Amino acid sequence: VIEIGQPEHSVVTTCAYCGVGCAFKAEMRGEEVVRMVPYKDGKANRGHSCVKGRFAWGYTNHKERILKPMIRERIEDPWREVSWDEAFSFAATRMRGIQKKYGRDAIGGITSSRCTNEETYLVQKLIRAGFGNNNVDTCARVCHSPTGYGLATTFGTSAGTQDFDSVEDTDVVVVIGANPASAHPVFASRLKKRLRQGAKLIVIDPRRTEMVESPHVKALHLPLMPGTNVAVMTALAHVIVTDGLVNEAFVRERCDWSEFEEWAAFVAQPNNSPEATAILTGVDPKVLREAARIYATGGNGAIYYGLGVTEHSQGSTTVIAIANLAMATGNIGRPGVGVNPLRGQNNVQGSCDMGSFPHELPGYRHIAGDAVREQFEALWNVKLNPEPGLRIPNMFDAAVEGTFMGLYVQGEDILQSDPNTSHVVAALSAMECVIVHDLFLNETANYAHVFLPGSSFLEKDGTFTNAERRIQRVRKVVTPKNGMADWEVTIGLAKAMGFEMNYNHPSEIMDEIAALTPTFAGVSYAKLEELGSVQWPCNEKAPEGTPVMHIDGFVRGKGKFVVTEYVATDERTGPRYPLLLTTGRILSQYNVGAQTRRTENVVWHAEDRLEIHPHDAEQRGVRDGDWVRLKSRAGETTLRAEITDRVAPGVVYTTFHHPDTQANVITTDYSDWATNCPEYKVTAVQVSPSNGP
Ligand code: SF4
Repeated sequence: VIEIGQPEHSVVTTCAYCGVGCAFKAEMRGEEVVRMVPYKDGKANRGHSCVKGRFAWGYTNHKERILKPMIRERIEDPWREVSWDEAFSFAATRMRGIQKKYGRDAIGGITSSRCTNEETYLVQKLIRAGFGNNNVDTCARVCHSPTGYGLATTFGTSAGTQDFDSVEDTDVVVVIGANPASAHPVFASRLKKRLRQGAKLIVIDPRRTEMVESPHVKALHLPLMPGTNVAVMTALAHVIVTDGLVNEAFVRERCDWSEFEEWAAFVAQPNNSPEATAILTGVDPKVLREAARIYATGGNGAIYYGLGVTEHSQGSTTVIAIANLAMATGNIGRPGVGVNPLRGQNNVQGSCDMGSFPHELPGYRHIAGDAVREQFEALWNVKLNPEPGLRIPNMFDAAVEGTFMGLYVQGEDILQSDPNTSHVVAALSAMECVIVHDLFLNETANYAHVFLPGSSFLEKDGTFTNAERRIQRVRKVVTPKNGMADWEVTIGLAKAMGFEMNYNHPSEIMDEIAALTPTFAGVSYAKLEELGSVQWPCNEKAPEGTPVMHIDGFVRGKGKFVVTEYVATDERTGPRYPLLLTTGRILSQYNVGAQTRRTENVVWHAEDRLEIHPHDAEQRGVRDGDWVRLKSRAGETTLRAEITDRVAPGVVYTTFHHPDTQANVITTDYSDWATNCPEYKVTAVQVSPSNGP
């Protein structure tokens, strides 16, 4: 007898929210998911989960999901439901027409870090081989692109060095610009367990985060002013070098010694000391000196960081500065140490691995490399363009200038998630064909001409790659409600554009990825069935994968020290905009909330609020819970105030989950010098009382 709600069978799959990559058993009754149960054999989560993965899958059945393709001539027109074939044909005709009128490079696309490896691989293949240009970028552009640049420069690989298990061997945990308790909760639990066992915690963050406030751990908190990461990293390095705490044996054996000497001479300069930089950074020099000594001498030191590092005008510089610190102290190449980016989205690592950047083919190989390009040309049977294409911000600029007119957006709400919303609106409005491929009519779809319904993670086969480079299976739990998995949609669009791609199953796409990508050479669905998951590099040298990287040597050969000079952001406070805004997330919501806001079975919802210090609130006559107007040079919004000393005087903080608040109306156009990752984390603002929206 089957009771109501009693499961009949289960399917093991992977959470589609954050970069922890928890494995779940989807317990089913017929075609209905009854509940999601954390899978005890999941190597990233070991039977644990958070509220999002466990309860926030209801969006897959939400009434606002669009299940039929739609088209319209102009964005002022109403949508018209059409068949898949008509939608593909309409989109292809428009995109080809644009190329005829404006040139081959006038169209491009954006891959999704929410989709599978196989799906992002197909989108970049469509663009490179079908569109004939390299105008492909990924939503990682706006989050972890500096990680790719910084770690590739110093270590030789655009990825974190450790597996999550590594934290069990850590003696000193340094968390920089991340709040894993909210954004990576299952990993945070493992981290806290290690802290309760006696490991020390250093938190470098403008805000007193939940990690600092946790009653069970004692953290050394460095509450720096937003935008001063590089100065703080350099001051830490100053103490390590001038106090004689460098692991010289490691540096001599593993790194370029002359580059180290140049770096050491730079950080040792008196103007880089904690005392000399204290007014700039806002960090007590004594606390900073203590943190440096603990990290350098406390045993295995591991650094975990998030978007508070990358989303700055010096995001790449900070990643490099972190890598310098790890090399100088010998904290690389064994369990318990390392440099570990906490990835935000479920497959942001994978979308980067799969060649979603305009200058790189899958496996981070430059498009200009003849030998590599020829491999792809032979298998794809096309001639590839060796010129790197446009990044997302360049696409927007070119659209406003009238030279970029068509965009295919896979699974990302660029209007809500990219900075300076008014510029994005101007760019989208100027385009002649915007194709949105998504579950819902998101904010970007207001400017689209074609809407291709997306499939949820429960409706398709594929793989995600989590923050520890772990490739895990996503398994089809129910039939796609829209009739097509996302990989099939991209194939349909490609075919309509005259570029045939033939695959019967995503496993065949993975076989092609493995054939073309040395770090994935040993990956196959058969291996994933056998081992449960595998961490890349997985190839002849490491057939069962690589939990910890750079053990015997850095991937690039010698570790590279790079001098990291602090350069202040151009975003300055002043009499009109005297406060600095920084942003973050809460546990129950996910990014712009497209899924979590549409999940009735999630435990609770919360609005975006502005955290403001009591001193700053009093000066402005703002009481707790009052509506306030938040205004920057880019735009303004209205939200409620929360008075708290979690932020220092001069700093305000909010989350960005709700479209009503639209925090990105406020953020500016400044971006990382190397990768164009937007500077979301530093915006000069004014706050004033308001009567509400
Ligand atoms: Fe999903 Fe991340 Fe929560 Fe795990 S920690 S259940 S991957 S959102």
